[in-house]
Amino acid sequence: MARAQSSGGNRVDDIPLARRASPLRKPSRRELKLIALFSLLLAIFLVVFSFTVFSKFVKPGFVGGNVAPSADGRLLGHFPYQEVSKDSLIAVYPGLEIHRDTYEALRAMRSAAVSDGVNLVLLSGYRSIDLQKQIFYGRKSARNQIAIERAKVSAPPGYSEHSTGYAIDLGDATRRDTDLEVEFETTRAFRWLKENAARYHFVLSFPKGNPQKVSYEPWHWRFEGTVEALRLFETANEFRRAQGSFR
Ligand SMILES: [Zn+2]
Repeated sequence: MARAQSSGGNRVDDIPLARRASPLRKPSRRELKLIALFSLLLAIFLVVFSFTVFSKFVKPGFVGGNVAPSADGRLLGHFPYQEVSKDSLIAVYPGLEIHRDTYEALRAMRSAAVSDGVNLVLLSGYRSIDLQKQIFYGRKSARNQIAIERAKVSAPPGYSEHSTGYAIDLGDATRRDTDLEVEFETTRAFRWLKENAARYHFVLSFPKGNPQKVSYEPWHWRFEGTVEALRLFETANEFRRAQGSFR
């Protein structure tokens, strides 16, 4: 008001302030480029940020979630295996069956070990996919309960070498405290197996740092002494070779 009075009713001063403000001018090319660059950087930042947050909180291999087999057919590192037909199995003792061919080779291997003063204990052999299901999902089974409680079973049902009848878990009769434990590697039985098992066509399925990334199981051996057995484990062996792994 003071200004309007002093300028004596000048027309310009009568125009409301809002109207006098200059209209939005068009941004220059340089400014447009800067805006585009800024938007692009913001978009990149958002994508990277959300991916980082997502991968931090969503752990792969979560059992019970949507675990899907990888492109090579593996699930949690394990290859799929079908159940062996019942007539190929032989009962070593009640509740423990293995494939006939595994049995023959194991018998020969055990007696050779005995003559070297080593007593190998057969802890587990064939497991049906149904039993594997009970073990994997932690349900108790009346049969084989001790083995189930102690077994560090990582293979999902349908993906266990034990379903083939060719996989066995071995212990040392003088070191039963190491049954199904990594400490089994400190036993005489394990040292003997490392030296001699290959002669009987037994292979350590999950050595330390195996390319399948399954946890180290010094007690778990698979028999590969027949064409049928070799054919079953070909995918796993091929994978090993492709990864430039031992053997
Ligand atoms: Zn096993």
